[in-house]
Amino acid sequence: MEIRFLGGAREVGRSAILVNDALLLDFGMLTANPPQFPLETPAPEAVVVSHGHLDHVGTIPTLLSGDGRPPIHWTPPTAELARTLARDTLKLHGGSYNCPFTEPDLKRVTQVSETHGYREPFEAAGHEITFYNAGHIPGSAHVLVDDGETRLLYTGDFHIDAASSEANRHADPVVGQRLVEGTTARPDADIVLCESTYSDVDHEPRATVEERFVESVETTLWDGGTVVVPAFAIGRTQELMLVCAAHDIPCYVDGMGTQVTEMLRQYPAYVRDGEAFRRAISHARFVTGRDGQRKRIVDQKAVIITTSGMLSGGPAMTYIPEIRRNPANKITMTGYQVEGTPGRDLLETGSAEIDGRVMPVSAQVEQYDFSAHADRDGILEFLASYRDSSVLINHGDRCGAFAEELRGDGFDASAPELGDVVSV
Ligand SMILES: [Zn+2]
Repeated sequence: MEIRFLGGAREVGRSAILVNDALLLDFGMLTANPPQFPLETPAPEAVVVSHGHLDHVGTIPTLLSGDGRPPIHWTPPTAELARTLARDTLKLHGGSYNCPFTEPDLKRVTQVSETHGYREPFEAAGHEITFYNAGHIPGSAHVLVDDGETRLLYTGDFHIDAASSEANRHADPVVGQRLVEGTTARPDADIVLCESTYSDVDHEPRATVEERFVESVETTLWDGGTVVVPAFAIGRTQELMLVCAAHDIPCYVDGMGTQVTEMLRQYPAYVRDGEAFRRAISHARFVTGRDGQRKRIVDQKAVIITTSGMLSGGPAMTYIPEIRRNPANKITMTGYQVEGTPGRDLLETGSAEIDGRVMPVSAQVEQYDFSAHADRDGILEFLASYRDSSVLINHGDRCGAFAEELRGDGFDASAPELGDVVSV
């Protein structure tokens, strides 16, 4: 088997891997200014996608801009998320370098889309492919690729539930994400291509994060404040809706997360607890933004879950200026803040550039780590099943260092660079 690294090697973003010059795994976009795309690729015979995040699907429609019509294989939620993200990219950047595809390219995605459930093997470009739940977001998959001689397990992004003993200390055990169950499948593989986003981070136990978040939010509401919760549209918005519903905290939901929630409602099999998700949807109030609704909501002493997660756009741009002056209000960041984003600036300096204006913020600002990625312990627990396999590390800021640590621990591990071809 020959594995070519077109993106996501020793970096996070634009994930793209070509197997045997025929099968493309993921085709993402690195969000930056300007954005970066995968290296040039010979036209693939088929495409298989791990999950519906921009850094894994963001560049997919460009594969259909020429004469080639490779089938695209993914789970049903991933197919929907990819189209939602592509429509958003077109809306924001259509016609510029930042959007490398057109409306007709996007329409063709629907024509070549082939959906598959977990553990249902199918054929793509002469390979047998099987998806396993990766526990990252709804529809996220580990991708097992078998070319008849070699089996490659591409982890995609994944999350793992905590050992239950730790969670049992809590009355309402929260072992991982409320939205999706952690990965448990460990199919046999000769090579494991493993993400390493948090290879040097130990996450605070999820139950503790949630406890702190709930206490902080309730305190602010009791004191008559409003809480704005910037959240990524895919996964994080729904996770926070579930947290609010579980603790009976009134919440509004605004931005692209509302469409994503509406879509995911059709796929209860891809969430941990379909009934809890349904309850969370009826518990939340969805914001349309009509007739000055947003300005009225900020006076209602409620929680507002809204995009964008890093304050770089979306309805958060309306809420933050409205609530920022009152120290009784609160802004709780709920995801990783990339350097240079307004969210990161707000955490570090107490002010942020919103809609082109630098605004000092007197409201309280806090951060909670509701990560959807395995931390160091989680990655090591996962890899413990693959001591006899070759391990390739990608999707991280310190892939080389982590591969070296694994070698020190007896693994056959390496971290390929962009453009590298690994033959096994
Ligand atoms: Zn992801």
